[in-house]
Amino acid sequence: MQAICHRCGQPTVEGLCPQCTLEMTKLVSCSDLVEVVICSVCGSRQIKGRWQLPDNSSVEEMAHQAALDALSLHKELAEPHIELDLRKVGATRYLANINIDGSFRGQSVSEQCEIPIRIKLMACDRCSRMAGKYFQSTVQLRGNAVRSMTKREIEECKKTAQDMADSGYHGGDHLSFIQEMKEVKGGLDIILGSTQLGRRMARAFVERFGGKLLETAKLVGKKDSRDVFRSTLLVRFPRLKRGDIVSFRGSLFSVAGFDGKMTLITSLREGRRSSMSEENSETVEILGNKSDAKAAMVISGDENVLEIMDPETYRAAFAARPRDLQVGPGEEVKVVRTADGFIVI
Ligand SMILES: [Zn+2]
Ligand SMILES: [Zn+2]
Repeated sequence: MQAICHRCGQPTVEGLCPQCTLEMTKLVSCSDLVEVVICSVCGSRQIKGRWQLPDNSSVEEMAHQAALDALSLHKELAEPHIELDLRKVGATRYLANINIDGSFRGQSVSEQCEIPIRIKLMACDRCSRMAGKYFQSTVQLRGNAVRSMTKREIEECKKTAQDMADSGYHGGDHLSFIQEMKEVKGGLDIILGSTQLGRRMARAFVERFGGKLLETAKLVGKKDSRDVFRSTLLVRFPRLKRGDIVSFRGSLFSVAGFDGKMTLITSLREGRRSSMSEENSETVEILGNKSDAKAAMVISGDENVLEIMDPETYRAAFAARPRDLQVGPGEEVKVVRTADGFIVI
């Protein structure tokens, strides 16, 4: 018995005939209006209520993408080929003409649709907070009773702060930004959009430079009936710096780093690693810093002592030879000048 299409009465294998199936199926549906929200400051686009990281897309590229995103195709539309023609029809208006070719259950099909697009420019939360001088935390970096932060430490901290704020932002934290960095008496203030960033940053500084961290918080108001705090993270740099050369228990050491309250040191002569307590770190004699080393030419030497040429006066001078240092006359070594003579590093 031959089946009949109940819509048009034509013979069919079963159910509706292919023609009626095609006529009754919505192959393409598209939105009546697409709104593209873009930050006028950083170019970030808001998608489903969330601000995206800005890339270098132009407004046209974003409008084009938004029109494609607003298009939905029937899942049985095979090998769809989409052509999109975007026309600017006003200062903030575009019209996308879309043509879709493909096949549906073996029949070639072609569909058209038109999507109006409206561009809405506003400032994203990050840009509006930055413009509004918003901040959640301040990292205060300071020297101590015996020394201020050095120029070099301040420069390194500024760079680290910038790198950490950038990577936090690229990692998805919109409040990861630096509101301001200012050099103040005795150190540096870094004013930040997020407390989380401030804590991470303060910990990184303590790991790198040693010292103590003290966090305090102040209630500054209420938002959505929740208390809003601002935190201050004070990092006090220790007396010793990386690279400092110290005389400790009869040997010379250089400061290699910090671990909690301990100062990690390496002996200059044998490269032996050791550590020094907080008390010793406060009192040990500092002879110089490895970063002040200069090149000096070796004149002669034996197993224990090198005769070198003073890099400033060009006079001969003597320095203890580090064990395993392979160097001969005419070659250069790095030396640090101290009150007690030269130290080879
Ligand atoms: Zn039919
Ligand atoms: Zn923005």
